[in-house]
Amino acid sequence: MSQHKHNPAKEIQNLQFFGEFGGVNPSISDSATYTFLKAKTMLDTFEGNAEGCYLYSRHTSPSNHYLASALAKMENTESANVAASGMGAITPVILQLANAGDHIVSSRTIYGGTYAFLKNWVPKFNINTSFVDITDLDKVEAAIKPNTKMIYAETMSNPLLELADIEGLAAIAKKYNIKLVVDNTFTPLIFTPAEMGADVVIHSLTKFINGANDTVGGVICGTTAFINQLKNVNDGSSMLLGPVMDSLRSAQILKNLRTLPVRMMQHSKNALYLAKALEKDGLKVKYPGLESYPQKELFDRMKHPEFGYGGMITLDLKTGEMATKFMEILQDKNVGYLAVSLGFYKTLFNAPGKGTSSEVPEEEQAAMGLSDGLVRMSVGLDFDIEETYQKMREALDEIHFFKHNLSPQN
Ligand code: PLP
Repeated sequence: MSQHKHNPAKEIQNLQFFGEFGGVNPSISDSATYTFLKAKTMLDTFEGNAEGCYLYSRHTSPSNHYLASALAKMENTESANVAASGMGAITPVILQLANAGDHIVSSRTIYGGTYAFLKNWVPKFNINTSFVDITDLDKVEAAIKPNTKMIYAETMSNPLLELADIEGLAAIAKKYNIKLVVDNTFTPLIFTPAEMGADVVIHSLTKFINGANDTVGGVICGTTAFINQLKNVNDGSSMLLGPVMDSLRSAQILKNLRTLPVRMMQHSKNALYLAKALEKDGLKVKYPGLESYPQKELFDRMKHPEFGYGGMITLDLKTGEMATKFMEILQDKNVGYLAVSLGFYKTLFNAPGKGTSSEVPEEEQAAMGLSDGLVRMSVGLDFDIEETYQKMREALDEIHFFKHNLSPQN
């Protein structure tokens, strides 16, 4: 059993939300604005002093409040605020914590959109970012300047599956009195970054948490004080930039959240099977469940053990041409879809160098070890993973991978 005090799956299981008419799901709020019996209560709500009252749905709605409170429980934070997309969660956090002239230390291996925002967008407000190897705590600390306001990392990074030592980073953040912001999108339930000292935890709900690939969504989990700052009508970035989630969507994501624990277990089980089998065949596979994963000891120390090692695998097929052919054949064999994103019931694959990380310049991709032949796979919920593996082997044979590259023995 887990050495952690907090069990995120139990938190989900213990949710008890009654609908307005006794429904087993909360009733969906179908209003953009809300009425008040007394004008004074409206004023109090504007000032944030009327607990339980709703003002306007960009601020929050009952449906968004249900989903946010469920996710706060899952992430072991006081509070949360949902957003229309993962980027709709990430960008307000950055803009709330950093002012003109401030500095950010960020992992260099992060989602391409976040990288582009930090590298290309915030400099127009004179907010600058040092991108560092997040696995090297000395380098992280050395990058901190007097005007640094936050360390930004993904618990397990997109696409290279590098692990951030959250306790180590939290100690640095504390020492310099700055915030540690962690995107936990790849590893819901597996890691609880707030328990290890992260100040703000973000998810793109688009991925594992919703799991249906029918909507984008995001969440910011943190202290009540920080979430209230984001929602403040005068200077809150979430409130004023307006990336609000629609109530119908949040009701739907809440229902899907309930099956997240069983889905994560199945994603992990299938990914471990494929990673082991393909590594045995001689492929260069990166997966945290393999002994060859460079940070396995750290992963094991940080994880909630019930959920395995997650659904994400990378395979290095050496060249972009090999990777492309392999993915097209996999799609023809209905192993999954050649598509960006992750956390779906079906396996999704793409080559991030030319896709989801194309925002990262080529020389920086090379420095971080992101080759054109790297295939990122989000392993699905396949019932017969042995059959899936056989189809992958056939695809590798069809592209003559073993003839052109390694023999299965080496
Ligand atoms: N964070 C990570 C790790 C991601 O992979 C993505 C999208 O791929 C995002 C954030 C952005 O989320 P969204 O597409 O929901 O805006």
